[in-house]
Amino acid sequence: MSDLDRLLDQARREVAESADLAALEETRVRWLGRKGALTEQLKALGALAPSERPAAGQRINAAKDALQAALEARRAELERAEDERRLASGRLDVTLPGRGEERGGLHPVTLTRLRIESLFRRAGFDIAAGPEVEDDFHNFEALNIPPNHPARAMHDTFYFADGRLLRTHTSPVQIRALLARGAPLSVIAPGRVYRCDSDITHSPMFHQLEGLVVGEQVSFANLKAILHGFVEAFFERPLGMRLRPSYFPFTEPSAEVDMSCVFCLGKGCRVCKHTGWLEIAGCGMVHPNVLTASGVDAERFTGYAFGAGIDRLAMLRYGVNDLRLFFESDLRFLEQFATF
Ligand SMILES: [Zn+2]
Repeated sequence: MSDLDRLLDQARREVAESADLAALEETRVRWLGRKGALTEQLKALGALAPSERPAAGQRINAAKDALQAALEARRAELERAEDERRLASGRLDVTLPGRGEERGGLHPVTLTRLRIESLFRRAGFDIAAGPEVEDDFHNFEALNIPPNHPARAMHDTFYFADGRLLRTHTSPVQIRALLARGAPLSVIAPGRVYRCDSDITHSPMFHQLEGLVVGEQVSFANLKAILHGFVEAFFERPLGMRLRPSYFPFTEPSAEVDMSCVFCLGKGCRVCKHTGWLEIAGCGMVHPNVLTASGVDAERFTGYAFGAGIDRLAMLRYGVNDLRLFFESDLRFLEQFATF
């Protein structure tokens, strides 16, 4: 017990010498912790004669309180010093302009899709969607492409082990929309499609626009009018259009759609291979077999359908000459299309 004053002096010195908050905490534990020097003194009380214990206990507790007060005072001092240090080092020039935030923009293919959707909505079309993992029925069979049909060979299909596939075109959405909603119907279905093919004008994943109108008085003339109206609205200028006979299993008759070249306006240039025309879609009157497979009365209803490449429309609208640029995620390219 005679050492108590000496211990308290030493503890106070160590408190005063603790240079930061972490060191101060170490000092506190060393003296007042469960195994601290003053705590040990309290434990030693048991060895004293019972008559001496109260007085000794009081002295030790007084020493603990004194040390506690010294610790608190030193803690406040260190915290104030820390605040001052932080303020001095983090001095802020409030007159500096802000750094600003980088804002993202929509991808050019997305911008193109949104533009297409808005134009067709104005013409009374709904937007339809379907799964990208399809089955054989929706992707081929219901579209009048039975097993072993030669058209299947042109699709370079990605198959899964269970026979399902990545849709090779957006046409299966025609079947799904008709089965779900019946006729009459006016929808477009923009979306991703997949083919095992890759070069300067082909990407294994690309975007297609499907259009389908089924009703009681739907004609080829309606088809041509809606496509012509669409390309002129999309490219914001008068453009020529011509249809060339073609073949698709799911339409009869079928046609390829050309519009006058948006770069030379029909005079002939490198982009249109000096023909003055650009091919932009395939189309035709919906084959009666497709209507029947979709539960629509082919005697009562007729319909037209068309398919166009959204990436190709984006390339033509923005003057991009390599399809792969759209899918390489190069910000220097993509930032040129950002709109805010
Ligand atoms: Zn041209």
